[in-house]
Amino acid sequence: DAEEFSTTLADSAGSLDGLTDPKAIGRVVKVLAENTQKMIEQNASLQEKLEVSSQEVITLKENLVDVQKEAMTDGLTGIANRKCFDISIRREVERVMKNPGPLCLILTDIDHFKKFNDTHGHQTGDHVLRFVATMLQRSVKSVDTAARYGGEEFAVILPNTELDTAMALAESVRAMVAGKRLRKKQTGADIGSITLSLGVAKFRTGESIAAFVKRADDGLYQAKRSGRNQVVA
Ligand code: GH3
Ligand code: MG
Ligand code: MG
Repeated sequence: DAEEFSTTLADSAGSLDGLTDPKAIGRVVKVLAENTQKMIEQNASLQEKLEVSSQEVITLKENLVDVQKEAMTDGLTGIANRKCFDISIRREVERVMKNPGPLCLILTDIDHFKKFNDTHGHQTGDHVLRFVATMLQRSVKSVDTAARYGGEEFAVILPNTELDTAMALAESVRAMVAGKRLRKKQTGADIGSITLSLGVAKFRTGESIAAFVKRADDGLYQAKRSGRNQVVA
């Protein structure tokens, strides 16, 4: 429409060139006036459409932020998921390769959880997963990442943290979880307690992420073999 209007303007300018007859000039001016009015109306409608569109862009941007957050969150427990863990550990390892500093990782696995599920049901098991996730999340700082690593395994990435501090944190989580008596929500029945085995590792400069995770996992495996409900670095 704007293009058409430009053509009309150019044509009118051409027609006016050399015109002296007032009637002829009047006809050209009438065409110009009509077209200008049409353009004013179209501009107003375009303005309205632009406002609607920019509101839509704002809403889409907000939705995108929500969706991105959801993609990084574990649906059951509400803490970071495996994808978020993978991204975070890569980021932290790259960071310490550039600016050397201590970086620790805790891996933890619920002890005899299969038996727990078998005894109390999968739904109660899900509540226990949420409970463990909450205990972990409450124990870490905002720079740390507590994530659900797999089914009943969790991980905590601890940037700028020495091994003894990470060990102490793991031990405090272990004691907190072991010391909590669990009750069934509906009936209030005491269903005992659960325990965690935990493995801790400190990043060694130059090692791969896989090797780093493996060493934490080796600690976890050792904790299981040594009787569970304990922390091994
Ligand atoms: P261990 O002490 O050696 O770790 O024994 P375990 O029984 O915990 O280990 P195992 O790997 O044999 O069992 C893990 C169990 O975790 C089995 C599976 O049913 C349970 N599990 C995994 N994901 C979920 C989940 O999302 N919800 C529930 N309720 N259970 C889960
Ligand atoms: Mg397991
Ligand atoms: Mg287990």
